[in-house]
Amino acid sequence: MSDIFKKIGKTVTETGRSVGEKTKQMGSVAKLNGKITASEHSIEENYRIIGKYYYDTYKNDPDAEIAEKVNAITASIDAIAEMKDQILAVKGLVKCVNCGAECSIESDFCGKCGAKLVKPEPPVVEAEEAAEPAESEVSETNTEE
Ligand SMILES: [Zn+2]
Repeated sequence: MSDIFKKIGKTVTETGRSVGEKTKQMGSVAKLNGKITASEHSIEENYRIIGKYYYDTYKNDPDAEIAEKVNAITASIDAIAEMKDQILAVKGLVKCVNCGAECSIESDFCGKCGAKLVKPEPPVVEAEEAAEPAESEVSETNTEE
């Protein structure tokens, strides 16, 4: 009887020990995976910083191999600026080029710094259609004079 209990006791202890080992192993694997993920994030962040540095430094003269990506960033930046202006226009506002204050599109001068406000062109499609005859009219007028 006591032998049986000893055996059972031993088995339980061994099982407990091996479960403990497994748990410990899993814990260190999880810990290592966590550290790997953190290192990968660090790499990505540093790549991002290097990319930003490269863009800021070489955006006007990028290497041919990477020029397409550099120009794509510039195009996105320009598009964002244009869309932000469009949002302001929809809201009836215009941004002061001098101080950045958002002023009513009805005003001629900035309410904050007094600079003359540069008004955006009227809605895109109409502006393109209207601009061409207006330009030719102007040049014709200039030629006649
Ligand atoms: Zn201003």
